[in-house]
Amino acid sequence: MRSVGDACAGCGLAQPVSRCPRPDRGWCIGKVTAPFVYESPLDAHIQAMKFRPSRAMGRALGLLLAEALQRGEPEEDVHALVPVPLHRRRLIERGFNQAFEIARPLAAATGKPLLVRGIHRQVNTQPQSLLAAHERSGNLRSAFRIRGNLKGMTVVIVDDVITTGATVNALAAALREAGASEVHAWALARVAPPGGWRQ
Ligand SMILES: [Zn+2]
Repeated sequence: MRSVGDACAGCGLAQPVSRCPRPDRGWCIGKVTAPFVYESPLDAHIQAMKFRPSRAMGRALGLLLAEALQRGEPEEDVHALVPVPLHRRRLIERGFNQAFEIARPLAAATGKPLLVRGIHRQVNTQPQSLLAAHERSGNLRSAFRIRGNLKGMTVVIVDDVITTGATVNALAAALREAGASEVHAWALARVAPPGGWRQ
């Protein structure tokens, strides 16, 4: 498996990044950590887990991410981990939220609590992979609703893969609206931008 290597802390892409989303208005994530390149064999395991739920695979992938995080800079002052929620209907269809399954062993390894209650995906968004980039942000606006007060908290969003970053950024915006003072994102893998890593 290939590591992303020298990644931009803002977006998790390998450097040099020609268009880091971080300086743009509306990028709500302090630091993205996604240690692996989304390619074979990791992509196959992540895809398989989505459509053939396997708690064992979720645990294996979560432990893999935990180990990779331990090799990096220690994350201090993190109050909670927030797995990207699925819409209730999709959760019932699948019976499984892969982000939650990855976050569980991470929570155990880091000693950080999982924050799941009150974090909702309120519109059943179309799979991002079916949409063009300009449709993605519209599709995700107000996709998440947070009940509760996160005032002053530093939270980390956990997902399996970061593609454009639109999903985690929409959740980060909602978490900040609920009072979170800092939001980071951890994912197993980062999808290379169109045209490959070197733009
Ligand atoms: Zn960047």
